[in-house]
Amino acid sequence: MIEIKNITKAFGKLQVLKGIDINLEKGKIYAFLGPNGSGKTTLIKTILGLNQPDNGEILIQNENIKNNWQYKSCIGYMPQIARFPENLNMMELLGMTRDIRKTASDEEKYISYFNLEGARDKKLKNLSGGTKQKVNAVLAFMFNPDILIFDEPSVGLDPVAHLKLKDLMREERDNGKTILLTTHILSEVEELADEVIFLLDGKIYFQGTVQNLVQTQNESNLERAIAQLL
Ligand code: ATP
Repeated sequence: MIEIKNITKAFGKLQVLKGIDINLEKGKIYAFLGPNGSGKTTLIKTILGLNQPDNGEILIQNENIKNNWQYKSCIGYMPQIARFPENLNMMELLGMTRDIRKTASDEEKYISYFNLEGARDKKLKNLSGGTKQKVNAVLAFMFNPDILIFDEPSVGLDPVAHLKLKDLMREERDNGKTILLTTHILSEVEELADEVIFLLDGKIYFQGTVQNLVQTQNESNLERAIAQLL
């Protein structure tokens, strides 16, 4: 589904990605872990085409993303921090996104799922941080994309919204979607991830199931296994 081949990326003298190779299969949830600054967001933005890699290539459904800008319509993205045109209200934002993407959307279903009825006519700048994150979630899901990418999605969400988001991720995975997730919340990884991809010093240090990771480190739980890797 997604083939990442020898991707490198530097910002000035800082070499953030030092040759990343991964194959991501359809119908799985992948959790990207690694210490602060290890390059998780940089890698995700490269898959999204928001960062240009220095070397290497990314293929989505066998097509090089460099030659195919249309591929973005098959990706839903929930960024770490919402950056909206703040003078719009939620419905104007969703309408504008629909106009740009020109694909069918299911926004009403997700507005109701995340209890966003009360936010319809409010300016985005007046919404709370967590409510903005819910709007971000609607934007990620509403076009029924094949690939969903979440960059620390639980930050700011209340427990009910967090639970709903996790349920929806599992449902989408079971419907054959490919889900990429960065998170520091290990319970989320244990509950959701089919595979863990651990980044360290610009490289993939470990790829496998949570159980593999715990066993290979001879530890009793994920938290302790990760501490062993560092
Ligand atoms: P966190 O867990 O803290 O979110 P991360 O693993 O997602 O971290 P990145 O955000 O990918 O890490 O950042 C990796 C490194 O690249 C950091 O040192 C960061 O300062 C640097 N970096 C990221 N984007 C840029 C940029 N546009 N310009 C310069 N440096 C950048």
